[in-house]
Amino acid sequence: MALIIDGKKISSEIKDELKDKVSALKKDGIEITLAVVQVGNDPASSVYVGNKKKACEYIGINSLSYELPEETTEEELLKLVEELNQNVKVNGILVQLPLPKHINEDKVIETISPIKDVDGFHPQSVGRLSIGQKGFVSCTPAGIIQLLKRSGITIEGKECVVIGRSNIVGKPMSMLLLRENGTVTICHSKTKNLKEVAKRADILIVAIGKPQFINKEYVKEGAVVIDVGMHRDENNKLCGDVDFNDVVDHVSAITPVPGGVGPMTIAMLMNNCVESLELNK
Ligand code: NAP
Repeated sequence: MALIIDGKKISSEIKDELKDKVSALKKDGIEITLAVVQVGNDPASSVYVGNKKKACEYIGINSLSYELPEETTEEELLKLVEELNQNVKVNGILVQLPLPKHINEDKVIETISPIKDVDGFHPQSVGRLSIGQKGFVSCTPAGIIQLLKRSGITIEGKECVVIGRSNIVGKPMSMLLLRENGTVTICHSKTKNLKEVAKRADILIVAIGKPQFINKEYVKEGAVVIDVGMHRDENNKLCGDVDFNDVVDHVSAITPVPGGVGPMTIAMLMNNCVESLELNK
């Protein structure tokens, strides 16, 4: 029977560990503050922002909330980010994406000080990850490494195949697996013979953005499958990029959707906020 990797449980463990750390820091008079910036009121973004603030409250991290109107100009947003960069009380800055179309996301990300870049999207954070230096790591892939490690799954020496090469999931995921001494292959929409390549994987990470695309024809028997996808099916039920029911009896471990990778992202954001103290030294 496959191990169903419980992201809800593992993320709760991480949050509880962080809560203890933060409370010990408070006893030494050290506070952590995250600035959360949202532009406009996209309903999905509002849910994510709300969940991030709730997690801060649970762990004991202060959150400063900036809810800006949709018509905020790029200049106004950059000015706020600069102010937050200068504010010594702010350890981390999170600008919720996507931003309205009239604002250049890359420019905003590059304006966030790399020492406050808790999302790990700044080119300097990405570069540090690539060359094996300490820095902030993008939260979803960092969470996947925790899911594997805390489930007792060894990465070293394993054939790891990542399907997807986005800047927020696929690319940093590949770098992290490499850092853990996996043998990594990255697939994308131009990959030929995807089934054969995916079937080589001992650990298959799927971040393709297509509901239930991966069935057991893509999966080696006994592989570990991590499903990053997040969609609503025709019955409005959440599902992933993997056809869970088709694959589950064929694998040694798999993440469900919901309750797999999803809950890890916020836990790792909280972890980055705590690590910011170390990185800001
Ligand atoms: P994305 O930016 O749309 O990237 C998808 C990647 O899949 C691209 O690299 C694309 O290749 C590749 N791809 C598309 N069709 C393919 C095919 N037929 N064969 C092989 N590769 C193919 O998506 P993302 O932002 O990485 O997100 C992926 C999924 O994860 C989405 O469902 C998203 O909602 C979910 N997600 C979940 C979390 C979480 O916290 N759980 C966080 C982030 C994302 P090209 O580069 O060639 O176009």
